[in-house]
Amino acid sequence: MEDEPAIAESLDYALRREGFITQTAGTYAKAEESRAWPTLIVLDLMLPDGNGGDLLRLLRAESRRTPVIVLSSREAEADRISALEGGADDYVTKPFSPREVVARVRAVLRRLAPPEAAEPEPSLAVDRGARRASYGGKALELTRVEFDLAALLSESLGRVYSRAEFIAQVWGNGFAITDRTIDSHIKSLRRKLTDAGAPAGVIQTVRGVGYRMASAGEAARSDDPARGEESPASDERP
Ligand code: CA
Repeated sequence: MEDEPAIAESLDYALRREGFITQTAGTYAKAEESRAWPTLIVLDLMLPDGNGGDLLRLLRAESRRTPVIVLSSREAEADRISALEGGADDYVTKPFSPREVVARVRAVLRRLAPPEAAEPEPSLAVDRGARRASYGGKALELTRVEFDLAALLSESLGRVYSRAEFIAQVWGNGFAITDRTIDSHIKSLRRKLTDAGAPAGVIQTVRGVGYRMASAGEAARSDDPARGEESPASDERP
């Protein structure tokens, strides 16, 4: 919105040349006639039938988050602050080069663009009812013990499970299960997970305590995948 034709035309030309679809209005009244709501407004503060600052406040009062870049010939700091406090996203003082305004339009749109949705990290999915497990969508062929270990570990990512807990939850108390037995089942489970694409650190050894399952991202960031291969040797227990 700009009432000085020369400025309006040069801005319009510069924006169109960069591929923007534009609509110019020299007055409030003309702006209200336009049907399509713009993606961004370049707003002159001094218009024949009103003050651009009032329009800005009106937009913000209606919770319209349309980005606004304010144009003004007045270089007074107070006007700049007033426009920014009124919800302007940027401020350009006249005289300006149309190219500068185009660059600011791009910058504001870039800043307000929603961040690209992150790819979900692959992870272990355990369906206890169906006794099925998959990693990143790939089905895992697990033995009964491996399945129960995976189910327990995946219940709480990051939590360390002790050997005693594994015995109680997987075999049942009273069974004489050696550390070696647990280690070998974990090792086999870990191999099946990495074969399905999991990082080597997906099941982490916590020395002297037991094992924990890392989130996919955490395991991938682990800079020492070999750590995952060692077993919590019983002689190193606290
Ligand atoms: Ca003006």
